[in-house]
Amino acid sequence: MAVIVQKYGGSSVETIEKMRKIAERVILEKKRGHSLVVVVSAMGKTTNQLIQIARSVTENPNKRELDMLVSTGEQVSISLLAMILQSAGYDSVSLTGFQAGIQTEGIHTKNRIIDIDVKRIQKYLNQGKIVIVAGFQGINTAGDITTLGRGGSDTTAVALAAKLQTRCEIYTDVDGIYAVDPRIYAGAKKLDAVFYEEMMEMASLGAKVMEPRAVEIGQKYKVPIYVAASHKTTRGTYIKERDETMEQKGVTGITVSDHVAMITVNHVPYMVQNIALIFERLGRQDVNLDMISQTPPTAGFVNLSFTASQEDELVIDQIMADLEKEMPTIQVVKDLEISKISVVGIGMRNLSGVAARVFKLFANHQIEFKQVTTSEISISYTISIQDQEKAVRILAEAFDL
Ligand code: ASP
Ligand code: MG
Repeated sequence: MAVIVQKYGGSSVETIEKMRKIAERVILEKKRGHSLVVVVSAMGKTTNQLIQIARSVTENPNKRELDMLVSTGEQVSISLLAMILQSAGYDSVSLTGFQAGIQTEGIHTKNRIIDIDVKRIQKYLNQGKIVIVAGFQGINTAGDITTLGRGGSDTTAVALAAKLQTRCEIYTDVDGIYAVDPRIYAGAKKLDAVFYEEMMEMASLGAKVMEPRAVEIGQKYKVPIYVAASHKTTRGTYIKERDETMEQKGVTGITVSDHVAMITVNHVPYMVQNIALIFERLGRQDVNLDMISQTPPTAGFVNLSFTASQEDELVIDQIMADLEKEMPTIQVVKDLEISKISVVGIGMRNLSGVAARVFKLFANHQIEFKQVTTSEISISYTISIQDQEKAVRILAEAFDL
């Protein structure tokens, strides 16, 4: 029978009690005759705690060592889950990323999977074992343990499914993909299916259910993904290829990202080299920039704004401090009270007027936006965090989400 890759997130394996429930689910599939590869995250908030410990040692921990440390979280959960399965009488084996053949490249804490040598996994599956793989980690060409960025267990799972040419089931603490995060808008509707493209857009714009890289790999290798609750049996959401016969809505979902830092660099002497220098510095440190805007030059100066994740705050602070020394005219202002709201939908390709409708809704409700960007299938607005709840509710009601 077919191989299935299942992934259980941190909240699903938070306690031994919960792990036993997961084991029951795994066993159920095993009894149905499937071969199982189970990817797990670290228990509960373990990864956060490990990062905190590192930060208590030094403000800016060495990234190789940080990878070494945080990767231990997943080792705890894989071994425990294997033990639970074994004591229930099911042959099972746990593998670290390295042992599972997951090869990565990139800078520490933000590695990418380049290939997976699945021979060892395949061998164990052939022996009838349930294979438990540590999410979020791999090994680079230097032989060092690496991690894939926060939420990287999804990526591990989808990449494994791609390599094993099978489907991937992501079990989590929410019961599927919602048009709007129900924690922000209680009336949100659950989607039965969503296209890779939309999901990728939603994930990269802040929907926390799935890691964007994971969806990207899913799309590239056409891995059918199913997202559902780990401790319930309600129907989840399929992430799949675009199906022309499906009804096309203008807007499929709204995403909210409130971990945004907006940096404004005022009074930059207007020379392309200066702008280039600023972005080059940010790029070199792998700061993921999001929105960028610039005022037209006045009296030889421009003001530049960009948004990035608050995770990169310390790195950005350092870069800006250096730049302030090199360009004495500039003043850097940092605003962390920012929320980014995006409306997403594949239907926006053929449907105009979504932007106009949003502008009108914002105007009618006195919501001021600071920046706007668009992609083919989304429009994003940065607003003050105080307006977040109101903005989401108004949009969700207007677009019937
Ligand atoms: N444990 C890692 C994290 O918390 C990976 C994951 O959960 O996917 O980011
Ligand atoms: Mg997690």
